[in-house]
Amino acid sequence: MKKLIDCSLEALSSLLQKRELSAHEVTEFYLSATERAEKEISALITYTRHRALVTADKVDRLRAEGASLPALAGIPIVLKDNICTKGIRTTCASKMLEGFIPPYDAKVTELLALCPLIGKANMDEFGMGASTENSAFFKTCNPCAYDRVPGGSSGGSAAAVAAGEAPFALGSDTGGSVRQPAAFCGVVGLKPTYGLVSRFGLVAFASSLDQVAPLTKTVADSAIVLEAIAGHDSRDSSSADRPPVPYRDCVGAGVRGKRIAVLRELSSDACTPSIQLAFSRAILSLEKEGASVLEYSIPELRYALAAYYLLSSAEASSNLARYDGVRYGYRAEGCQSYEETVIKTRTLGFGSEVKRRLMLGTFSLSAGYADNYYKKALQAQHMLKHAFDEAFAHFDFVLAPTVLDVAHKFGEKQDPMDMYHGDIFTVPASLAGLPAISVPFEKDNSGLPIGLQLIAPAFCEEKLLSAAHVLESAGGLAV
Ligand code: GLN
Repeated sequence: MKKLIDCSLEALSSLLQKRELSAHEVTEFYLSATERAEKEISALITYTRHRALVTADKVDRLRAEGASLPALAGIPIVLKDNICTKGIRTTCASKMLEGFIPPYDAKVTELLALCPLIGKANMDEFGMGASTENSAFFKTCNPCAYDRVPGGSSGGSAAAVAAGEAPFALGSDTGGSVRQPAAFCGVVGLKPTYGLVSRFGLVAFASSLDQVAPLTKTVADSAIVLEAIAGHDSRDSSSADRPPVPYRDCVGAGVRGKRIAVLRELSSDACTPSIQLAFSRAILSLEKEGASVLEYSIPELRYALAAYYLLSSAEASSNLARYDGVRYGYRAEGCQSYEETVIKTRTLGFGSEVKRRLMLGTFSLSAGYADNYYKKALQAQHMLKHAFDEAFAHFDFVLAPTVLDVAHKFGEKQDPMDMYHGDIFTVPASLAGLPAISVPFEKDNSGLPIGLQLIAPAFCEEKLLSAAHVLESAGGLAV
């Protein structure tokens, strides 16, 4: 049972299928691990012990009856608290939705309905942030160093996987929110191509960028989870209708003969020395495995951060207009008029980072300014997409750091601009809708994980996963 914590999803799935272990036993194991770890890291907003055991028992019953079950049936999961779960509150780590119990499941929740749900994970309020310090409820600690942030916004999901509360978790990535916490906590974070995984039931932050995304211990695990959640959904208007891909089978394909670009604008020069060193070692490792790594330039990348913050805030201002104290969610008390209700509810219900984004977004969309800000940002996004298309005519992948530095200490970054700047390596793939993965590669001198990122052309996840696997094996952190 002790070894369970090191089991890959594939191994767990096979133990369950052969009935060498029951889903009940596996779930009990992870529930105990969660109860121990939660005392230190506080990754979960809602702990769903009872529901987890009910699901586990259902899986054991179905298996005993000879039903054919999906690969992940019986394997516990943690979901970020912006993924709707019918009958279980979904707060987005906001006071606004503190008591919100969705009457429906997200598509990914439905697809993984036979995975015992350990809990709903902490996050930056509505996904806005990169440290989980913007949660309206409490801080989550990085399992690698309790005085440091786990990253964000999917910080609870990444911390839960790193601490062994569940073998895998789902987060969401709008501008880097699974890749960045994955890098900080030493796990794998994969942002799929926009449209590959249904957004139905994912509470919207910036709909044209949001993607549900897996957090796992290994690249092979990531492939298994992606296989389970990818696919067309008529309830998501941006969902792609493509034939299923056996991602699991692609993981060992290697990088021989592949061309990998290191972009001048996303080079490691801006990072701390330990990340620079890891980056150089990663290049050597990929070359040793038969890839050629070449420098390339995408000058349009200089607009990426500004474009991302304008577009994501503009969309957020529209998406979050629904929290008015009338329809659902929190309502301020003692108001005399509709207007007063809306103003007071939003003043008290949203945290300061959310308000900052809503003000920026509303301003950039308002008459007289939209042409100068919102439309310019759309143009920059368009140019960037085009530039990536051109780059991928010559290259198979882009290799970039995931973050500028390892996880910082709580409260160390107070300036919002400083936080935004930290997204410099992750927003480009988001703006261009491309798949990108952060893989734990090394640890720095103080034992903190360093993650590196690979970006691939749209819908080339199978190639991305095989290159990521090479990187994972070459680094010193492979499980
Ligand atoms: N850190 C970025 C932001 O604050 C990314 C967030 C995300 O991907 N949800 O917007």
